[in-house]
Amino acid sequence: MDEHSQVSVLIIYTGGTIGMMQDPKTHLLKPFDLENIIIEVPELKKFGFKLDHVAFDPLIDSSNVNPAFWVKIADTIYKNYDKYNGFVVLHGTDTMAYTASALSFMFENLSKPIILTGSQLPIGNIRTDGKENLISSVEIAAAEISGNALVPEVCIYFENKLYRGNRTTKLNAEYFNAFYSGNCTPLAKSGVYINYEYDKIIYPDEKEKLKLHRNLENNIAILKIFPGISPELIRAITDTDDLKAIILETFGAGNAPTDEGFICAIRNALGKGIIILNVSQCLQGSVEQGKYETSAELERIGVISGYDITTEAALTKLMVLFGKKLDREEIIFNLNKSIAGEITPI
Ligand code: ASP
Repeated sequence: MDEHSQVSVLIIYTGGTIGMMQDPKTHLLKPFDLENIIIEVPELKKFGFKLDHVAFDPLIDSSNVNPAFWVKIADTIYKNYDKYNGFVVLHGTDTMAYTASALSFMFENLSKPIILTGSQLPIGNIRTDGKENLISSVEIAAAEISGNALVPEVCIYFENKLYRGNRTTKLNAEYFNAFYSGNCTPLAKSGVYINYEYDKIIYPDEKEKLKLHRNLENNIAILKIFPGISPELIRAITDTDDLKAIILETFGAGNAPTDEGFICAIRNALGKGIIILNVSQCLQGSVEQGKYETSAELERIGVISGYDITTEAALTKLMVLFGKKLDREEIIFNLNKSIAGEITPI
């Protein structure tokens, strides 16, 4: 794109509360059409950007998101990649953190912004949070520095904060601050100005060609441990045919029961070749296997530390790594390093 061409942003509407309206008969909230959103936000025209939009058919509540849907979003971006400076994806908040995480691993060598946003109140509602979210997301998606994208990452913009997408978790189903990023402070905050944290933003080393990884493996389980968890329950999961990996959601800094039944069930799963990734149930802080007696055995038998990764990022990272048909050693190697800013290895 030459320096005189107009800055352009593609808005991709996938569904979610931002464009929902109440069905007059059932009174249930259902996605409505994109024109409605654009009509509600005439301020967007004032930017002077070339703004195009596409809407998925059908529009969905994001609780219905699945890997095929991520491929659909990624394909839309991939096909239009050279035509736009940035992309805004309007998406329901319920699974937005999963989608943002998935896209961050599916795209390699990303050099343009992909900003996901949505709202807690529909855009037609007088008190909606959707307008500010959409307007600032468009501004961020269009922002440049020396002719390059200012934020060439997959991000979530919500309630005045720009987060690295694969560091987020949905925290709030009521208030406007829907997302939390406990292990990575915002890449930008908006007030009177949008203040960017330039040294936190990841810039591609050189302009390598964009790659899209479209294969995702979904035979992966999330197992949240709790006091009293039985080895039978663990076995019921690990007996799943062809299970590739388990995200073991542990206590605190990666701690788990030390009784022989629990350890034996985990050892059994590892013996079948299942990769077990230790992810903390805490929203802030990191797994440190070997810090406490209650995690030393996990480390010894071959459970992999997830460091400070979120469950959303762990799941989608594993889906993409297995989808690439990497061998076990390569997968473990990649789990121990940051691919898209998702972990801080200790
Ligand atoms: N259920 C909605 C969705 O995720 C909630 C929202 O958009 O905030 O699609």
